[in-house]
Amino acid sequence: METRVCEVFSSIQGEGKLVGRRQVFVRFAGCNLCCNYCDTPQSRDPLAGDMVTLKQLMGMVNELITPDLHSISLTGGEPLLHTKFIRSFVEKYDFNYLLETNGSLPRKLSRIASLIQYASVDIKLPEHDASPQWDDLFHNEIESLNILIDEKVNTYCKVVILPSTKLDTVGLIASKIAQEVPNASKISLVIQPVSPLKYWVNKKHKLFRTSEKAGKYLDVLVIPQVHSLLKVK
Ligand code: SF4
Repeated sequence: METRVCEVFSSIQGEGKLVGRRQVFVRFAGCNLCCNYCDTPQSRDPLAGDMVTLKQLMGMVNELITPDLHSISLTGGEPLLHTKFIRSFVEKYDFNYLLETNGSLPRKLSRIASLIQYASVDIKLPEHDASPQWDDLFHNEIESLNILIDEKVNTYCKVVILPSTKLDTVGLIASKIAQEVPNASKISLVIQPVSPLKYWVNKKHKLFRTSEKAGKYLDVLVIPQVHSLLKVK
Protein backbone atom coordinates (compact mmCIF):
# COMPACT_ATOMS: atom_id res chain seq x y z
CA MET A 1 0.00 0.00 0.00
CA GLU A 2 1.28 3.49 -0.77
CA THR A 3 0.08 7.08 -0.75
CA ARG A 4 1.32 10.57 -1.49
CA VAL A 5 3.12 12.47 1.28
CA CYS A 6 4.38 16.05 0.88
CA GLU A 7 6.91 16.02 3.68
CA VAL A 8 7.92 14.36 6.94
CA PHE A 9 9.76 16.47 9.50
CA SER A 10 10.39 16.95 13.20
CA SER A 11 9.29 20.20 14.83
CA ILE A 12 7.36 21.81 17.66
CA GLN A 13 3.58 21.89 17.41
CA GLY A 14 2.69 25.51 16.79
CA GLU A 15 -1.11 25.49 17.07
CA GLY A 16 -3.90 24.39 19.36
CA LYS A 17 -3.90 22.65 22.71
CA LEU A 18 -0.74 20.62 22.06
CA VAL A 19 1.26 23.77 21.32
CA GLY A 20 4.90 23.33 22.32
CA ARG A 21 4.87 19.54 21.98
CA ARG A 22 7.65 17.92 19.97
CA GLN A 23 6.17 15.96 17.10
CA VAL A 24 7.03 14.24 13.88
CA PHE A 25 4.76 15.75 11.25
CA VAL A 26 3.51 13.66 8.35
CA ARG A 27 1.99 16.05 5.82
CA PHE A 28 -0.29 14.28 3.35
CA ALA A 29 -0.99 15.69 -0.11
CA GLY A 30 -4.28 17.15 -1.26
CA CYS A 31 -7.20 18.98 0.33
CA ASN A 32 -10.92 19.11 -0.40
CA LEU A 33 -11.34 22.71 0.85
CA CYS A 34 -9.88 26.06 -0.26
CA CYS A 35 -9.58 28.35 2.78
CA ASN A 36 -8.43 31.86 1.94
CA TYR A 37 -6.01 31.92 4.90
CA CYS A 38 -4.36 28.57 4.09
CA ASP A 39 -0.71 28.63 5.18
CA THR A 40 0.21 25.35 3.44
CA PRO A 41 -1.08 25.97 -0.10
CA GLN A 42 1.56 23.66 -1.58
CA SER A 43 0.05 20.73 0.30
CA ARG A 44 -3.35 21.26 -1.38
CA ASP A 45 -1.94 19.88 -4.62
CA PRO A 46 -2.93 16.18 -4.73
CA LEU A 47 0.25 15.49 -6.72
CA ALA A 48 2.62 17.22 -4.28
CA GLY A 49 5.42 15.20 -2.74
CA ASP A 50 6.20 11.53 -3.37
CA MET A 51 4.46 8.20 -3.17
CA VAL A 52 5.57 6.28 -0.07
CA THR A 53 4.80 2.82 1.27
CA LEU A 54 3.92 2.08 4.91
CA LYS A 55 7.43 0.75 5.47
CA GLN A 56 9.13 3.72 3.81
CA LEU A 57 7.08 6.15 5.89
CA MET A 58 7.95 4.26 9.07
CA GLY A 59 11.64 4.49 8.09
CA MET A 60 11.35 8.26 7.62
CA VAL A 61 9.54 8.67 10.96
CA ASN A 62 12.06 6.46 12.76
CA GLU A 63 14.95 8.67 11.69
CA LEU A 64 13.25 11.69 13.26
CA ILE A 65 12.37 10.26 16.66
CA THR A 66 13.81 12.32 19.54
CA PRO A 67 13.70 11.68 23.30
CA ASP A 68 11.10 14.45 23.75
CA LEU A 69 8.70 13.08 21.14
CA HIS A 70 5.07 13.52 22.18
CA SER A 71 3.21 12.21 19.15
CA ILE A 72 2.99 11.87 15.41
CA SER A 73 0.94 14.61 13.75
CA LEU A 74 -1.11 13.39 10.79
CA THR A 75 -1.66 16.63 8.91
CA GLY A 76 -2.06 18.08 5.44
CA GLY A 77 -3.72 19.17 3.28
CA GLU A 78 -6.47 16.95 4.58
CA PRO A 79 -5.11 13.70 6.01
CA LEU A 80 -8.49 11.95 5.87
CA LEU A 81 -8.18 11.81 2.08
CA HIS A 82 -5.69 9.02 2.94
CA THR A 83 -7.81 7.17 5.48
CA LYS A 84 -7.06 3.66 4.27
CA PHE A 85 -3.30 4.25 4.40
CA ILE A 86 -3.49 5.98 7.78
CA ARG A 87 -5.58 3.16 9.24
CA SER A 88 -2.98 0.61 8.18
CA PHE A 89 -0.11 2.75 9.47
CA VAL A 90 -1.55 3.45 12.93
CA GLU A 91 -2.64 -0.19 13.33
CA LYS A 92 0.89 -1.34 12.56
CA TYR A 93 3.05 1.25 14.34
CA ASP A 94 2.50 2.01 18.00
CA PHE A 95 2.74 5.76 18.65
CA ASN A 96 0.46 8.43 20.03
CA TYR A 97 -1.20 10.16 17.10
CA LEU A 98 -2.69 13.63 16.63
CA LEU A 99 -5.06 13.93 13.67
CA GLU A 100 -5.27 17.51 12.34
CA THR A 101 -8.41 17.55 10.21
CA ASN A 102 -10.70 20.12 8.63
CA GLY A 103 -13.64 18.09 9.95
CA SER A 104 -15.40 17.83 6.61
CA LEU A 105 -15.20 14.04 6.18
CA PRO A 106 -16.95 12.38 9.13
CA ARG A 107 -17.52 9.05 7.37
CA LYS A 108 -13.82 8.65 6.72
CA LEU A 109 -13.04 9.83 10.23
CA SER A 110 -15.26 7.12 11.72
CA ARG A 111 -12.92 4.51 10.20
CA ILE A 112 -9.89 5.64 12.22
CA ALA A 113 -11.28 7.55 15.22
CA SER A 114 -10.91 4.59 17.58
CA LEU A 115 -7.19 4.31 16.71
CA ILE A 116 -5.99 7.84 17.49
CA GLN A 117 -5.37 9.58 20.80
CA TYR A 118 -5.71 13.29 19.93
CA ALA A 119 -7.66 15.26 17.34
CA SER A 120 -7.75 18.86 16.23
CA VAL A 121 -10.87 19.75 14.23
CA ASP A 122 -11.01 23.01 12.31
CA ILE A 123 -14.24 24.97 12.44
CA LYS A 124 -14.49 27.03 9.28
CA LEU A 125 -16.32 30.36 9.22
CA PRO A 126 -18.29 31.62 6.20
CA GLU A 127 -15.63 34.31 5.59
CA HIS A 128 -12.94 31.61 5.18
CA ASP A 129 -14.43 30.71 1.75
CA ALA A 130 -13.50 27.09 2.49
CA SER A 131 -16.53 25.69 0.69
CA PRO A 132 -19.48 27.16 -1.23
CA GLN A 133 -21.83 25.14 1.06
CA TRP A 134 -20.87 26.45 4.49
CA ASP A 135 -23.98 24.98 6.23
CA ASP A 136 -23.13 21.47 5.00
CA LEU A 137 -19.51 21.89 6.03
CA PHE A 138 -20.47 23.01 9.53
CA HIS A 139 -22.87 20.06 9.84
CA ASN A 140 -20.00 17.69 8.95
CA GLU A 141 -17.68 19.35 11.45
CA ILE A 142 -20.28 18.82 14.19
CA GLU A 143 -20.66 15.17 13.14
CA SER A 144 -16.87 14.77 13.29
CA LEU A 145 -16.76 16.21 16.81
CA ASN A 146 -19.48 13.81 17.95
CA ILE A 147 -17.65 10.82 16.47
CA LEU A 148 -14.43 11.77 18.24
CA ILE A 149 -16.10 12.41 21.58
CA ASP A 150 -17.97 9.08 21.35
CA GLU A 151 -14.63 7.35 20.76
CA LYS A 152 -13.16 9.20 23.75
CA VAL A 153 -10.45 10.85 21.64
CA ASN A 154 -8.82 13.83 23.36
CA THR A 155 -10.33 16.47 21.05
CA TYR A 156 -10.24 20.22 20.64
CA CYS A 157 -11.56 22.41 17.89
CA LYS A 158 -9.80 25.38 16.40
CA VAL A 159 -11.20 28.44 14.70
CA VAL A 160 -9.07 30.97 12.84
CA ILE A 161 -10.34 34.53 13.14
CA LEU A 162 -9.62 37.09 10.45
CA PRO A 163 -9.60 40.90 10.62
CA SER A 164 -13.03 40.69 8.93
CA THR A 165 -14.50 38.28 11.52
CA LYS A 166 -17.30 39.99 13.41
CA LEU A 167 -17.30 40.10 17.20
CA ASP A 168 -20.37 37.86 17.56
CA THR A 169 -19.42 35.18 15.03
CA VAL A 170 -17.32 32.86 17.19
CA GLY A 171 -19.78 33.16 20.10
CA LEU A 172 -22.60 32.05 17.79
CA ILE A 173 -20.53 29.14 16.52
CA ALA A 174 -19.65 28.14 20.10
CA SER A 175 -23.33 28.21 21.11
CA LYS A 176 -24.22 25.95 18.16
CA ILE A 177 -21.46 23.49 19.08
CA ALA A 178 -22.70 23.46 22.68
CA GLN A 179 -26.25 22.72 21.43
CA GLU A 180 -25.35 20.06 18.89
CA VAL A 181 -22.55 18.16 20.62
CA PRO A 182 -24.07 16.50 23.71
CA ASN A 183 -20.69 16.18 25.44
CA ALA A 184 -19.45 19.63 24.44
CA SER A 185 -18.07 20.16 27.95
CA LYS A 186 -15.25 17.78 26.94
CA ILE A 187 -14.21 20.03 24.03
CA SER A 188 -12.05 23.12 24.12
CA LEU A 189 -12.28 25.79 21.44
CA VAL A 190 -8.96 27.33 20.45
CA ILE A 191 -9.39 30.79 18.92
CA GLN A 192 -6.43 31.40 16.63
CA PRO A 193 -5.90 34.97 15.40
CA VAL A 194 -4.71 34.69 11.82
CA SER A 195 -1.01 35.35 11.16
CA PRO A 196 0.71 37.75 10.72
CA LEU A 197 0.09 38.88 14.27
CA LYS A 198 0.89 42.58 13.80
CA TYR A 199 -2.80 43.28 12.98
CA TRP A 200 -3.83 42.07 16.45
CA VAL A 201 -1.38 44.17 18.46
CA ASN A 202 -3.82 47.08 18.55
CA LYS A 203 -6.91 44.90 18.50
CA LYS A 204 -6.59 43.13 21.83
CA HIS A 205 -10.10 44.19 22.84
CA LYS A 206 -11.42 42.22 19.86
CA LEU A 207 -9.63 39.07 21.05
CA PHE A 208 -10.88 39.57 24.61
CA ARG A 209 -14.50 40.14 23.54
CA THR A 210 -14.45 37.22 21.11
CA SER A 211 -13.09 34.94 23.85
CA GLU A 212 -15.67 36.19 26.37
CA LYS A 213 -18.58 35.58 23.99
CA ALA A 214 -17.43 32.05 23.10
CA GLY A 215 -16.53 31.32 26.73
CA LYS A 216 -20.22 31.44 27.69
CA TYR A 217 -20.62 28.09 25.93
CA LEU A 218 -17.28 26.27 25.71
CA ASP A 219 -13.87 26.05 27.34
CA VAL A 220 -11.96 28.69 25.36
CA LEU A 221 -8.28 29.44 24.74
CA VAL A 222 -6.73 32.16 22.55
CA ILE A 223 -3.51 30.84 21.01
CA PRO A 224 -1.76 32.36 17.98
CA GLN A 225 0.50 30.30 15.72
CA VAL A 226 3.74 29.83 17.62
CA HIS A 227 5.93 28.11 15.05
CA SER A 228 6.08 31.25 12.92
CA LEU A 229 7.40 33.19 15.96
CA LEU A 230 10.12 30.59 16.43
CA LYS A 231 10.76 30.56 12.69
CA VAL A 232 10.38 26.80 12.55
CA LYS A 233 8.07 24.86 10.21
S1 SF4 B 1 -8.44 22.83 5.18
FE1 SF4 B 1 -6.34 23.32 5.81
S2 SF4 B 1 -5.02 22.62 4.11
FE2 SF4 B 1 -7.14 22.70 3.35
S3 SF4 B 1 -7.29 24.71 2.38
FE3 SF4 B 1 -8.06 24.89 4.49
S4 SF4 B 1 -6.28 25.55 5.69
FE4 SF4 B 1 -5.48 24.77 3.73
